[in-house]
Amino acid sequence: REYTPKVIDTNYTEGSADKRWSSTNFPWTKELEAKNRNKFGNRSFRPNQREVINATMSGNDVFVLMPTGGGKSLTYQLPALISEGLTLVVCPLVSLIQDQIMHLSQANIPATYLSASMEWPEQQEILRGLMSCHYKLLYVTPEKIAKSNSLTGLLDNLYSQGHLSRIVIDEAHCVSQWGHDFRPDYKNLGVLKQNFPKTPVLALTATATARVKEDVVQALGLANCIVFRQSFNRPNLRYLLRPKTKKCLEDIDNFIRTNHFKECGIIYCLSRMDCEKVAEKLRECGHSVSHYHGSMDPVDRTRVQKQWSKDKINIICATVAFGMGNLIFQTSVCITSIVGCPMLMECGRAGRDGLPSSCLLYYQYSDYVSYCENDVDCRRLLQLIHFGEMFDPSRCAKTCDNCLKELTWVEKDVTNIARQMVELVTMTGQSHSSSHILEVYRGSVSQNVKKQRHDALPLHGAGKHLAKGDAARIMRHLVTEGILIEDVKKIDRHIFLSENDLLLVLFFLYLGIHLFLICYLLFNEKFPAPDKASKMGKLDASLFPQINKTVQQQSEVDENLSSMLFD
Ligand code: ADP
Ligand code: MG
Ligand code: ZN
Repeated sequence: REYTPKVIDTNYTEGSADKRWSSTNFPWTKELEAKNRNKFGNRSFRPNQREVINATMSGNDVFVLMPTGGGKSLTYQLPALISEGLTLVVCPLVSLIQDQIMHLSQANIPATYLSASMEWPEQQEILRGLMSCHYKLLYVTPEKIAKSNSLTGLLDNLYSQGHLSRIVIDEAHCVSQWGHDFRPDYKNLGVLKQNFPKTPVLALTATATARVKEDVVQALGLANCIVFRQSFNRPNLRYLLRPKTKKCLEDIDNFIRTNHFKECGIIYCLSRMDCEKVAEKLRECGHSVSHYHGSMDPVDRTRVQKQWSKDKINIICATVAFGMGNLIFQTSVCITSIVGCPMLMECGRAGRDGLPSSCLLYYQYSDYVSYCENDVDCRRLLQLIHFGEMFDPSRCAKTCDNCLKELTWVEKDVTNIARQMVELVTMTGQSHSSSHILEVYRGSVSQNVKKQRHDALPLHGAGKHLAKGDAARIMRHLVTEGILIEDVKKIDRHIFLSENDLLLVLFFLYLGIHLFLICYLLFNEKFPAPDKASKMGKLDASLFPQINKTVQQQSEVDENLSSMLFD
């Protein structure tokens, strides 16, 4: 079936503010509490769990924004158990699905999954079981929904009999190109709401900035959904940022020795080579370390992960492929992240058991991460702003390096500077990166500034007396106050990420080869003139989207990640 996404008018309500959803007088409350205790062994509900369950049980479309480890699975597994019919769960990774099903079967909850790698007789067996309402939950990958006619047929059938009780989109940020693990097939999940308009949809994610949320709601067609969001502040984590120097490995060794010796930890590295190098070096220093990345044999990977979760090794040096979703959550993790990969995401994996844990980031591309450059404001505040959350820095209680500094504050009126910056943004015309605007304001005469003729603007250099960090803080403030709008553009990330220089070279090589081919076709005498033109036209149209796509995908998704994702 064809699916054409259309722009919908959204009208969401904030669920967290609505007392109605925390009521204990719903018809299902008793059964809910009993099943939470008996089937899942939980003594109570975590923040927002009861509210989300009540809202989805009342038949609403619900969007849930809850940190990793917050307990999102329960918000659909319990409703699945106390509702008639089947709950369909879309989940990006087969490994995550298997993990969930294992937990559910331990609790005697009938759940199954369909995957493309299954033999046809096995799939048929499962489909029959589903038809006879043998299962409460069916997990599928988004590809399955796009490709399997037998699944579509089954869902149609169940729906027409009123047996499709709920549709769950787990890791819903995969819908958005602005999220960190975009999956093309998630984009088409809007087809579900279109085909099954009466079935409530529950979208769950731990990663959603305002932009991603809007994308998800649009793509899934959740016009009137109720949004539940929960604070992303993690009080048991402390945040430390250090510039990356040649001595950084010694520093890590020291840090682990003094703070987390023999404790469990992950060190994230950007490349596979780094993983191996760092692991080797730390092993020499007497730590028990292994590396983990995408080009390892899957058997080895599983072995390392098992050893690590059983405390046989303390530290893993990994690429971001390690620990997707909730494969690991039980242990206290001290995270040491090397080179400015987005700290926000990796931090989700530390201290999920609530025990104190450290997040240490070594950053290199200082211009890129204004978060790192800022050596004054509370790290928590800076991170939570990213999630659209306001945070009172006094609640940090000196658990980040900046708050620890006990700086003395001098109050200054910077209204004029702020005004000039805004004026400058207007003057430069089209959109520019914040670092570019800051360069112009502070009077840089770099090639880039000259090329754009920004050195000729009246306010060029108006802020030359300002320290770089101060200027950046004022700019950030203008953004958080909504006076300037910051848009994350793919191209920016693409340039700044480390392995991308190589990608750029490959891209131009690729482009070059094709241009060469085009020229060759054009000038080759074998082709008469009209033919040449049509060949050119064809190549043009088919070639470029493909090139764009390749580059986007490569820059967005770590290769390791994609090899795991698309298995
Ligand atoms: P998320 O999907 O939000 O990352 P999960 O649903 O995987 O988190 O839950 C993380 C852990 O929290 C699981 O081990 C789960 O059993 C546990 N958990 C969830 N809800 C509760 C609760 N109400 N009480 C105790 N433990 C819970
Ligand atoms: Mg989850
Ligand atoms: Zn702080």
